[in-house]
Amino acid sequence: MMERSLSGIGASQGVAIGPARLIAERVLVVKPRTIPLKNIPAELERFARAIEQTAVAIKKIQLKANKLTATHQAEIFEVHLSLLQDPMLVDRTREYIRTQRINADYALLQALQEYQKLFNELGDETLQDRLVDVKDVGKRLIEFIQGYKRTNPFKFQTPGILLAHNLTPSDTIHLDRNKVLGVATELGGIGSHTAILTRALGIPAVVGVPRLLASCSENETIIVNGASGEVVLRPKQKTIHRYTLKQQAIARFEHSLRPLVDLPAQTRDGKRIHLLCNIELPEEAADVKAIGADGIGLFRTEYLFLSKNKLPSEMTQATEYLKAAKTLKPLPVTFRTFDLGGDKLPADLVVEREDNPFLGYRAIRVSLDKPRLFKAQLHAILRASIHGNVRLMFPMISTLQELLEAKELLEEAREELRKKKIPFDEQMPVGMMVETPAAVMLSDELARHVDFFSIGTNDLTQYALAADRGNLQVSHIYNQLDPSVLRLIALTVKNGHAAGIPVGLCGNLASDPLATILLIGLEVDDLSMAPSILPEIKNIIRSISWRGLRALGRQALRLNSYEEVRHFAAQLLEQWVEEIPY
Ligand code: PEP
Ligand code: MG
Repeated sequence: MMERSLSGIGASQGVAIGPARLIAERVLVVKPRTIPLKNIPAELERFARAIEQTAVAIKKIQLKANKLTATHQAEIFEVHLSLLQDPMLVDRTREYIRTQRINADYALLQALQEYQKLFNELGDETLQDRLVDVKDVGKRLIEFIQGYKRTNPFKFQTPGILLAHNLTPSDTIHLDRNKVLGVATELGGIGSHTAILTRALGIPAVVGVPRLLASCSENETIIVNGASGEVVLRPKQKTIHRYTLKQQAIARFEHSLRPLVDLPAQTRDGKRIHLLCNIELPEEAADVKAIGADGIGLFRTEYLFLSKNKLPSEMTQATEYLKAAKTLKPLPVTFRTFDLGGDKLPADLVVEREDNPFLGYRAIRVSLDKPRLFKAQLHAILRASIHGNVRLMFPMISTLQELLEAKELLEEAREELRKKKIPFDEQMPVGMMVETPAAVMLSDELARHVDFFSIGTNDLTQYALAADRGNLQVSHIYNQLDPSVLRLIALTVKNGHAAGIPVGLCGNLASDPLATILLIGLEVDDLSMAPSILPEIKNIIRSISWRGLRALGRQALRLNSYEEVRHFAAQLLEQWVEEIPY
């Protein structure tokens, strides 16, 4: 078959070449088999065992859900358990095994089909939800009858490039970076948390490649170019050679930046810019120091949930936070309180499915709604602050009320620790993310209540342009360099500085070399980014002069389209910095 190139969105830089590993949704195959009369009791026994195993599996999930969620959600599992005694499902399956002398899974399938037929005939909309439950339980039962174990499909025996329709952040966090050479998915946008995670893991990735799975077969060689968004299927030797040279050029470039580790991020004329890291996993903290960063600007604490799939206790959190704070000391570590919801849902935090999850129950809204969970986290962060280098910030503030409520709970948490005589840093800076247009418009007022702002352009862009950060259909609108976003950044900086507080930026724009000069021109005080990109950004900063940049920033604010801003930024970069081999 011929070489073919597909294009998507470059999500994480780098080039990967290797065999394709397709992750397909498992389709259950159930075929009828006649059972000899003497084996009927054994077949009935197989069915009975599957019921027991399903009950155990459901109870396990129920237990986790109970710890975390509203009672309504846990009730769903009661319904699932009751279905395991439903005569229409259970007795009928037994009857078919006996009378038709067929295998248990096929007998169950018939019972399920009858269930569905009956519900459809009744034509009652409300029964549709019940049907979803019946199918869910039925699928589990069939899996147990067939002896299928739900395993982690992302565990590879040998290295390869993962191709999937979609990946959730919790799937991504379990990827083994030694085995997964690259990632390509059919869905997803540049701002999705999956894209962010692949960058954190340093795995080249392309998202939003239509018809990817249908165009490629297992084990075929493919190339993923995370910078251009290209995926090459069945490459010719010549193409493989060209990309191997590119890989080598990137490795040489990265190597050439190594001496920067010990040098400060400062312009030629001496303006110091603080370069911080975004981290998702506690073990990344050690790397932050090693690459010569000025600290952690965003610790996405919700990944403690996502990686373990269960609620971390106050002590577990305190231990993890303290470890990071100690490792980084005296450099600052900024813990952002849980930003759950949106596309970041632990599999077992069962919350109602929402039509617009990014506009729904997310981040500070969840925390304020679950004060016990929130307080445990606040206690843990306070406990970790004893070394004097911890900062705390709240995500997704959209009203002054939310900020005041969050601060009130923080004050209560402080008081509780004081009472128990547990030491913490009384001066710990408290900031907030500015990532909703509402927060930008209120930033003059909000600035009076916090010690710092951190602009989250990943969300700010989606909310400003009304374009879901993970939706491929609108990814042409979702541009963090859109002039509307630049103006929102400028207003936040102006209001923050007028109130005397520093304004940092921790969205993906800080990880984009194209944006660095502009952001400094807009007087953003610190940039927090994926650790892998930091040496490159430091190189840009050490190549430019601060003088004149503010005027350029003002010039950029007069541009009217994304294309103009991009062109302007590219020209600036070209003017100051030698070619970058991506
Ligand atoms: C942002 O929105 O820019 C941000 C940094 O937070 P997250 O990507 O975790 O939503
Ligand atoms: Mg955000």
